[in-house]
Amino acid sequence: MVVEAGRDRPTVLILGGGFGGVGAARALKDAEVDIELVDQHDYHTFQPLLYQVATDLLETSAVGHPLRDLFHDQPNVAVKEDTVTGVDLDARTVSFAHMPDTSYDVLVLGLGARANFFGVEGAEKHAFPMYTLHDAVRLRARILERWEAADRDPSLVEDGALNVVVVGGGPTGVESAGALAELYRNEFDKDYPQLPQDQARIVLVEAGPVIFSMFKKNLQDYARKALKERGVEVKTGDSVASITPTRVTLASGEVLNAHTLIWGAGLQGSPVAGELGLELERGGRISVEPDLSIPGHPEAFAVGDVAWITDATTKRVLPQLGSVALQAGEWAGKNIARRVAGKDTEAFEYTDKGTMATIGRMAAVVQFHRGRTMKGAKASLAWGAVHLALLSTGEDRAKAMIDWTWAGFSHERAGRISVSADDEE
Ligand SMILES: Cc1cc2nc3c(=O)[nH]c(=O)nc-3n(C[C@H](O)[C@H](O)[C@H](O)COP(=O)(O)OP(=O)(O)OC[C@H]3O[C@@H](n4cnc5c(N)ncnc54)[C@H](O)[C@@H]3O)c2cc1C
Repeated sequence: MVVEAGRDRPTVLILGGGFGGVGAARALKDAEVDIELVDQHDYHTFQPLLYQVATDLLETSAVGHPLRDLFHDQPNVAVKEDTVTGVDLDARTVSFAHMPDTSYDVLVLGLGARANFFGVEGAEKHAFPMYTLHDAVRLRARILERWEAADRDPSLVEDGALNVVVVGGGPTGVESAGALAELYRNEFDKDYPQLPQDQARIVLVEAGPVIFSMFKKNLQDYARKALKERGVEVKTGDSVASITPTRVTLASGEVLNAHTLIWGAGLQGSPVAGELGLELERGGRISVEPDLSIPGHPEAFAVGDVAWITDATTKRVLPQLGSVALQAGEWAGKNIARRVAGKDTEAFEYTDKGTMATIGRMAAVVQFHRGRTMKGAKASLAWGAVHLALLSTGEDRAKAMIDWTWAGFSHERAGRISVSADDEE
């Protein structure tokens, strides 16, 4: 390993404090390296629960955790808050919005992805993506604001103020639509008794023939039925063609009156990946070697949503999931430790523990690695246990547990107030 002159031990620069970056840093806890972990935020985001913040079930602090706090017990990590603006793989330097250019001996690129609007007219401007904590808070504020506006002026109901179109029949879209329906049918019916609940539409639009295409047919059918029971209209085989602030036009020509559109339809890798001078795979992802290093740069690793990782056993490209990002981050960290110790790196082996998603209270689906499936209340409890275990600290787990338990018993969601940084005292 080449270590820059003047340094006692290698500097590992980790870009991104998501599942991938945090996993890599933690795996290097006992390694003889100095780690700098840089993220544009001072917190780690637990994306799988963002929709629960947007629908008032969880508070922001249960889903965003201070990054510095995660490394109190790891003196070889320094956390910095800054935005990465570029990476020069040949010069081994990274540029930032504020800090001076920084050189590294080893790089871990875990900058994640962002919404891909596929060029749909008006989407960039008017859609509400669901990828960051800011997105979730913005969506929550939008929904509350539209209900309050309709409460003041009921003529807005017909114009679509309460209607929400959710784009994408994958987990992000289905989970968002289901949670929103429960918020509407269990909370807003009591909060806004004067407003006509039956005219508040939630429409899920999926371009493919089915929702939850990654799951088996029995789970797809169950999810569709569970959504219908919650009052969600599911439209498959159609897509969104254009969006204005109050109208959504579908490819079939149908026009929906809707003041809010949630975008859960696709991702593209961090724009930083596009500037590396590499040929990228579909979705702007960096194709990596079996040991997760970037081709031609054994000292640079890419992990998580920004990486195109081929499973060594199945030869399939691994999906953009938290479990893949975390395991890949940890594996990259272990490979770096191996290299520092003068050993060879090893090819990444992903352990598939199954896939799960929730549709609403006591309604979830689980598909295990070997094909066994589970649905309904049992799956919902399994989902809760897995997500609680994944939350980064005991404190976050406690916060989520309290919020979920309370909502489960009472159907109440205490998070549904709007607070803006611009509010007057
Ligand atoms: C709504 C939603 C629901 C999901 N549900 C599930 C689920 O149930 N199960 C599951 O396994 N997976 C789920 N996922 C996927 C999972 O969350 C991602 O695969 C995982 O977060 C990817 O981890 P990552 O570390 O690659 O990226 P991220 O977690 O996105 O982390 C990237 C980090 O990089 C930072 N960053 C980005 N750009 C810059 C920059 N230029 N400068 C500095 N910092 C930057 C970001 O702030 C972020 O902290 C879900 C995702 C979403 C959006």
